[in-house]
Amino acid sequence: MAHKIGILTSGGDAPGMNAAIRAVTRAALKRGMEVYGIMDGYKGLVKGKIVEFDRGSVSDIMIRGGTILGSARLPEFKDEEVRKEAVEQLKKYEIDSLVVIGGDGTYRGALSLTEMGINCIGIPGTIDNDIVGTDFTIGFDTALNTILDAVDKLRDTSSSHHRCSVVEVMGNHCGDLALYTAISCGAEVVISPETGFDEDKVIKRLQELERIKKKRHAIVILSEKITNAHKLAEKITENTGFAGRATVLGHIQRGGSPTANDRILATRMGDYAVKLIEEGKGGHCVGIIDNEIVGVPIDKALHEERQSRKRMYDMFDRLV
Ligand code: ADP
Repeated sequence: MAHKIGILTSGGDAPGMNAAIRAVTRAALKRGMEVYGIMDGYKGLVKGKIVEFDRGSVSDIMIRGGTILGSARLPEFKDEEVRKEAVEQLKKYEIDSLVVIGGDGTYRGALSLTEMGINCIGIPGTIDNDIVGTDFTIGFDTALNTILDAVDKLRDTSSSHHRCSVVEVMGNHCGDLALYTAISCGAEVVISPETGFDEDKVIKRLQELERIKKKRHAIVILSEKITNAHKLAEKITENTGFAGRATVLGHIQRGGSPTANDRILATRMGDYAVKLIEEGKGGHCVGIIDNEIVGVPIDKALHEERQSRKRMYDMFDRLV
């Protein structure tokens, strides 16, 4: 009997999830497996929102942002009783293994399901790049390029008006979106969970840039959930020669057609996830480390320390 796999997307959506869905589906069909798309994450799984996929089900989805499977949050999935309902649904459809695309919450659900006898493979899909066990997550590159596009435009207008733009970016307690943006747009200041936030230091730095280096404009990239971007912009107006202006980019960072890099990453990861399933592995997640696609136990990915970005922060500081 053909091996049957289910696929779902869960947690926050990210551009490139569709490319991963396509790769998993095509790679599995090619290996003679049957594929079932599960709508709306674990919520849809519990409710039995399951449809069989063929090759055509994933045609023309690669270029689209978001996820054709939909995503949802189901906090109750932490309860074993609720997960038992999910297992029942999978049994009903005779689905043997599950590929889940999402963030660390999604991984926790996958690990618990594996412990209940359903082999699960996680694929990291989130713009935040906040998952250990991979250098990059699917969606990060697209979000970075979306942010960059916005910041480049802000720079044009802020240099005409002697402004300092404070741009708040997402990241969910991970500073990578802020750091990579700051490096790639040549920002003057980056504030992230890794740098910490010292308001006096930021003001002093901007004063120096203005008085000594005669900068006509400045860009401050701020990670979300650290301080209020508007309040910081007011402080900048009050204490420096720049007119501070805040821009909170919000959910546009999650949208858009995935970049080539994200499509390729998602495709490689999706293909590899099916290989892991074929090998009978469960409770693993796919990652990219030093440009090699690897499988890592989810447990390890959830409990390991994130690699330090200190060298990149130091480089950023040297080049301002
Ligand atoms: P992300 O996967 O992006 O981190 P969430 O943290 O919202 O997003 O997790 C997505 C879903 O994963 C949750 O809505 C819930 O259904 C499931 N989940 C999260 N944490 C756990 C857990 N500890 N055990 C089981 N399922 C979980």
